[in-house]
Amino acid sequence: MSTIDTLPPLRQVIADHELSARKSMGQNFLLDLNLTAKIARQAGDLTGCDVLEIGPGPGGLTRGLLAEGARRVVAIEKDQRCLPALEEISRAYPGQLSVLNADALAIDPLAHLTPPIRVVANLPYNVGTELLVRWLTPAQWPPFWDSLTLMFQREVAERIVAQPGSKAYGRLALLAQWRADARIVMSLPPEAFTPPPKVSSAVVHLTALPEPRYPADPKLLEHVVAKAFNQRRKMLRAALKGMAPDIEDRLIAAGIKPTDRAETVALEQFCALARLMAS
Ligand code: SAM
Repeated sequence: MSTIDTLPPLRQVIADHELSARKSMGQNFLLDLNLTAKIARQAGDLTGCDVLEIGPGPGGLTRGLLAEGARRVVAIEKDQRCLPALEEISRAYPGQLSVLNADALAIDPLAHLTPPIRVVANLPYNVGTELLVRWLTPAQWPPFWDSLTLMFQREVAERIVAQPGSKAYGRLALLAQWRADARIVMSLPPEAFTPPPKVSSAVVHLTALPEPRYPADPKLLEHVVAKAFNQRRKMLRAALKGMAPDIEDRLIAAGIKPTDRAETVALEQFCALARLMAS
């Protein structure tokens, strides 16, 4: 029996179901249930919430979420070898866990979820950034989720919370911070996982803002930011040259020096520039 529930320890679950980790599936498992419960707590009070989990694997984080009182967990797992282990968790928490055997990039789980919804996941590293970008760029804002509590490689986590002037600052920081509050809430060394990955990891907690921090058309903002950072070492008057004949005037009107580089420009100024590009 484990410390947080009546189910067997994860090492035994993995041995019983022969769940040897597969690199191709981004499988680095968390086996310490006290740690997975701690990650679940970073998502806030789960008692009145449905939780969407991507990649439950043998179920360590899933058990943490349920032990921390999640109303329901909907978990999407691509590797069907994990299903019998997850079925045992379903039986221990009747009616509270639904497992969808699918590729998280190819399925829309919304029909299975009731708001308020929090997303919590130890993401497969090969699809993590793609999923985050999708969750941050829905057709409608506010999005379906209230918060995202996500494990990333440390380097990706730093790109999400980066501030102007830092090396990590770029498209991901601007995208995340435009419509959400984002902070790193936990750091994990490689040894926390089985097998240990090559790099450290971190948990990022993002809370959706009711509306974007500054007004701007999402497509124009993305376009301006993409252009600016595609040549991040260039001055903006050169990097954005093709966008408008009077780009220098527009940069000045947005409060940006034409000789500035993208990595020093704050979100507020990028939004001002996107608004000026609309006219
Ligand atoms: N949540 C478990 C934990 O914390 O120990 C496992 C995390 S492991 C880093 C990533 C999990 O995502 C694996 O179980 C893997 O099979 C699953 N996975 C990989 N690609 C996926 C995809 N496209 N859709 C859904 N699950 C996927």
